[in-house]
Formats: sequence, C-alpha cells, structure tokens
Amino acid sequence: MRTFDDKGLSTRCVHAGEWGDASGSPQTPLYVTTTFAFPSTAALLDVVEGRKPGNLYTRYGLNPTIQALEEKLASLEGAESALAFTSGMAAETALFLAHGRGGIVCVGDAYGGTLELLTQQLPLLGIKTHLVLGHELQRLDELLAEGVRLVFFETPTNPTLEIFDIAELAARAHAHGALLAVDNTFASPVNQQPLAFGADLVMHSATKYLGGHSDLTAGALMSSKALLEPVNAWRKNLGSMPAPETCALLARSLRTLVVRVRQQTAAAQMIAEAMADHPRVARVLYPGLPDYPGHALAAKQMSGFGAMLTIDIDADAQGTVAVVDRLRLFTLAPSLGGVESLVTQPVTTTHHGMEAAERRRRGITDSMVRLSVGLEDADDLIADLRQALA
Ligand SMILES: *Cc1c(COP(=O)(O)O)cnc(C)c1O
Repeated sequence: MRTFDDKGLSTRCVHAGEWGDASGSPQTPLYVTTTFAFPSTAALLDVVEGRKPGNLYTRYGLNPTIQALEEKLASLEGAESALAFTSGMAAETALFLAHGRGGIVCVGDAYGGTLELLTQQLPLLGIKTHLVLGHELQRLDELLAEGVRLVFFETPTNPTLEIFDIAELAARAHAHGALLAVDNTFASPVNQQPLAFGADLVMHSATKYLGGHSDLTAGALMSSKALLEPVNAWRKNLGSMPAPETCALLARSLRTLVVRVRQQTAAAQMIAEAMADHPRVARVLYPGLPDYPGHALAAKQMSGFGAMLTIDIDADAQGTVAVVDRLRLFTLAPSLGGVESLVTQPVTTTHHGMEAAERRRRGITDSMVRLSVGLEDADDLIADLRQALA
C-alpha cells in the first residue's frame, strides 16, 4: 500500500506522489529532461531489463515528474496504477487499441471525439464497434454473447446527463468475460469512483476538472498494473506521453481538486434549482434535482451530482442562440471543468456534425444549452442566466 492510500481524498490530492527532493522541496520537482544518465553499463541494463526501477527516457514515462503525477492520479481513483497521456483522446485511443480489438460497445451518448474514433477510425483497422443507447440496453447482452470484449460509457453523459448503473453494467460485462471502462470526466473522482463499483478501467480527459483551469491538455487512465501494461506499450510507441511541464502543472492543479469540484457542484445545484423554477426554461437536466429520472441511481453511485447541467429553453433554435449570446459571465466556448463558467449548445459544438434525426434519437434538441459551472459566485451566475433569459 502507498503511504496515503488509507487517507481521505483531499489528503491524497495534496500528498500522494509528492516525493520531495534532496533540497527540501515538499513537492516532486519538475524534471525538464528527456533522458537520464547512468554510472555504468551494468546500472543501465538493470533498468532497461527491468530488474530495478529507475529513470530512463521521458517518452517511456520513466521520468520522476511523470511517475509522481501517475502515483497521484492512481491514488485519486483508488487504483493500483495510472498512466498519463497527451489528451483524453490519446488515453482512449491507447485503451481501445490495447483492450478493444475484440470489439467495443459504447453505451449511451458520448463525447464527439469518442464517437468519431469509434465510428470513423477504429473500423479502418478492422475493429468492430457498436453504439447502444440507454433505451436499447437489451442489445448489450447480445453483443457480449457475440464476443465483444470491452464495454465503454460515460455517466453522467454528455450532454443529456443520462445516468448509467456502473455496478450493473460491470456485472453484465464480467458475466461474459468482457472489461468495463468508464469515462469519468464529467463526475471527476470527487463525485464518483467507478472502480469501487466494479469498473475495470477509468479514463479522464484531464483537460477538464483534473486540470481545472483551462490551461492544459492531458488525459489519464487508472486501473490495475496488469490491465495497464498493454496500454503502456501502445502509449510508448504512439508517443502519447505528456511533457513533464504539463505533468507538473497537472499535479499542481490536482492539489486543489476537491475544493474546486465541491464548490462547483454546490453552485450547480443552486443554478439547477433556480432554472427549474424559471418560466422560460422547459426542462433542467441535472441529476441533483429530486424529480430527475436518474436521481436515485446517481445518489447511489455518486457522492455529489457534478457541476455540469443542461437547460432546455422554451424557445426555438434562433431564440436559444439569442439567450446564449446575451450571457456575460458564462463564456461561450467548448470544453468544461475550468474555474470559469462555460456555455455551449450541443447543436453548435459537440453534436454539430450529427444528422438532425440522429440528434433527435439521442434526445438532443436545438434549444438545449449546456453549462459548465465554474468558481464564480453562484448568485452572479444565476443573475447572468436570468438577464439572458429575460
Ligand atoms: C473532452 C472530453 C474528452 C476528450 O478529451 P481531450 O482531453 O479533449 O482529448 C473525452 N471525454 C469527455 C467526456 C470529454 O469531455
């Protein structure tokens, strides 16, 4: 067991993977170097041939700044091990190539890049991929019986905040010897820990809450050493290792992860409640609202309901654009999870390239507005939404 594994999440955020140095730094320093020197050929071969742990070459991840970050990342999801990547998509690509070659099924709606990778690119390599929406879950068992090896999903999903039962889907996958991987980007480890509910692997776009300041692009996978070993081989030769500078910046951000996400989550709840009562809002999609369809399930597997919400405005497409363009504190920009609140319309961003009929099938309307709640005062954010809706 690592030193901080029995401690609370905030303590792990601050202390896990902080190895200090000979000069007394309380943190792991930033090693801006691509290679590491050895006193002898024998010492070099000990590391190259795996007899001793050691630093070697930064692209292999054998750099203390990267390894320290990975120890912190693993600790946050209660995982044995973790791998850092240049982006969330790089993490997904390595995951799919290592564990999805026997077929992948993606349950529910997913990030646009994920859908593109699954439907446009992996099939070019002969990898069979399947998309199963929440109301088609009976197809999952058929696909598993046909030999699909990897089940992948987000919960809550983007942008409709659909909640999937991690424990139930893990049991279904495992009954057929398949693996279950969860994209935990929306919830963050503060609000949901999928490995504790039976998931085999957790993936993050660290660009979002883990980074938290809209100033770095990175990804992460957390799992057992055994499951990450083949993923690491792909990462190494795809070359999708983040720079030590990015790893140090991400470690810096993770030290404040819990306070950020708890505050953002509390503000999202206040905004969801205020919007639910607003006459120009037709529907609020937020798992923290008691009458939300996924509320009970979210309460079972999440420790907080997250800081992402979608409001369906009582307006046509043009009227919705007008509301979005009147917002002042919410910045119109893709992405999420940063300290500044962001607004997007699924039809103009994440689901822009999709046929209108397919969007309808996924429950995505022209009047939906997705909010990523930042660290501004909730009252100011509510006032901004009210003036834009007025
Ligand atoms: C942003 C995002 C990704 C992709 O991450 P990048 O860091 O942009 O590559 C994957 N999944 C979800 C849910 C995301 O929000």
